Amino acid sequence: MLRLTFFLYGILASINIYLADSLTVQILSILGILFGLGIAISWPEPLPPPPPPDLWSEAPDDKERDMKLCSNCGKAVDQKWSMCPYCSKKV
Ligand SMILES: [Zn+2]
Repeated sequence: MLRLTFFLYGILASINIYLADSLTVQILSILGILFGLGIAISWPEPLPPPPPPDLWSEAPDDKERDMKLCSNCGKAVDQKWSMCPYCSKKV
């Protein structure tokens, strides 16, 4: 929005050159064009563009853990565990 304002200011200043009679006003208008359009071009966008939604798609998912079922209570237990945390029996 701010860039658009400076851009319109540059356009108005360029129109002012054609309408103005005195050299001083024309010089000021030229300076206004350079100033306004320069800012309109170089002014940064207020917000950076949002990151692409698939930015983190390559991140590895949660590491899939090898699970096994407890032979006693049937609950899923980590593969490397030898004792079931639910029933304290050997799996
Ligand atoms: Zn168990």
